[in-house]
Amino acid sequence: MDAILEPIGQFWEGFLNNPIVQLASQLIVIYVVLLWLGTAYWAFRDMQARTENPILPYFAAALIIFFTPLLFMFAVVLYLIIRPRETLAEVYERSLAEESLLAEVEKNELCPVCRDRVDADWLVCPNCRTRLHRVCPSCNRLAEPTWPLCAFCGREFERSPRSARIRARTSEPDTDREREEPAAASSTDATAEHGRLRGATPS
Ligand SMILES: [Zn+2]
Ligand SMILES: [Zn+2]
Repeated sequence: MDAILEPIGQFWEGFLNNPIVQLASQLIVIYVVLLWLGTAYWAFRDMQARTENPILPYFAAALIIFFTPLLFMFAVVLYLIIRPRETLAEVYERSLAEESLLAEVEKNELCPVCRDRVDADWLVCPNCRTRLHRVCPSCNRLAEPTWPLCAFCGREFERSPRSARIRARTSEPDTDREREEPAAASSTDATAEHGRLRGATPS
């Protein structure tokens, strides 16, 4: 038995005492330790990018350190599972995208009567001919049909806001409105506005 084991033992002894083997094993140990510390630093930075909490990055690094240079790969797997899914930059980007989407939706108003898409500065809905805005005769800016006076220059409008609101809700045929409007528009300004409105109406 010893006759067989002795050469093997001698071989191992010689192998382990070989300076090249010793140097290589030392380098491997140093490399693994550096990998361990580097991974802890990576976990620290990675957690910093994912949370505003100042403590959590230290916990992430401590988790890697705690698992020792031999087992820290298990800590990496654990960390990858429990870390926050999105980085702060991704969260910020997503909120920006959502905001711009919301602004896009708000910009594309809908006609109150036919729910067709209308532009924010249109005077009438081209689909159902509902009046969407009026032009202020004093400052020439667009006023909501429900405003009793111009929000920009303060000029009082003649039509009552209640009737304007009803007008905006019910889809009156356009001929009715045209018959009615000159009667309501007593001043020259209102008549001018009516003419401008008719000019802006797509036929
Ligand atoms: Zn409409
Ligand atoms: Zn005005």
